[in-house]
Amino acid sequence: MFWRWVEVGINMVFPQPPRCAACQGPLEREGVCLCSRCVGALPLIRGPVCNRCGGPSPCGGCEGSWAFTGLRALGLYEGALQEMIHRVKYDGNRELGLALGELLAGPVREEELLRSCSVIAWVPLHPNRMARRGFDQGELLARGLARQLGRRLLPRFTLIRWRDTPSQTTLDRSARLGNVDGAFRVEYPGRVRGKAVLLVDDVLTTGATCHAAAAALLEAGALRVGVCVVALSHPPRRGGRWS
Ligand SMILES: [Zn+2]
Ligand SMILES: [Zn+2]
Repeated sequence: MFWRWVEVGINMVFPQPPRCAACQGPLEREGVCLCSRCVGALPLIRGPVCNRCGGPSPCGGCEGSWAFTGLRALGLYEGALQEMIHRVKYDGNRELGLALGELLAGPVREEELLRSCSVIAWVPLHPNRMARRGFDQGELLARGLARQLGRRLLPRFTLIRWRDTPSQTTLDRSARLGNVDGAFRVEYPGRVRGKAVLLVDDVLTTGATCHAAAAALLEAGALRVGVCVVALSHPPRRGGRWS
């Protein structure tokens, strides 16, 4: 602890140049949070994208009807991107969460349905889980994105997860849909009524969680909901199916 304060003191007298939020290496230019080497290692999704599943287009027929219209992902849930998400969620690297949120501005700007949204929300953790973790990674992402886009971030507890649902990771698609059905609620409908809402989440697997959160926003009177996520897990491959 003592040496930590010594370090803080030294940094106040001799400010360090900003470092990459992922590797702590030097940044090549101002106004970015990640170095080009870290960004270059990310499994980004490029080229034409399917609006319903966020996978490469044509995706080979994704199924399911969603409450959200328009979906974009920064990349795939693998390699360096998966590692970064883990470092935000489990190591509490908040700077990295904000940095990933800023990167989301790229895919959002490419899609009119998302670009035109006027307010930003995130898929919230249940308050119990947030208390345990001390922060909500979705909020960090949304904050970074809002900063980058110059869009308004809806205040905390506008959209809430009021049912502490069991982890989705071991469930199949239909079980996931049932698991999160009705898990979200809008506490202040006036904040979303008549607005196009951009909903942010870290990982999208079946889409069930984003669907449930978007349904709650629509029920509260949102005009429409677009979704952007950092990573797609199991995206439909060409000729494959959304599992
Ligand atoms: Zn780096
Ligand atoms: Zn698709």
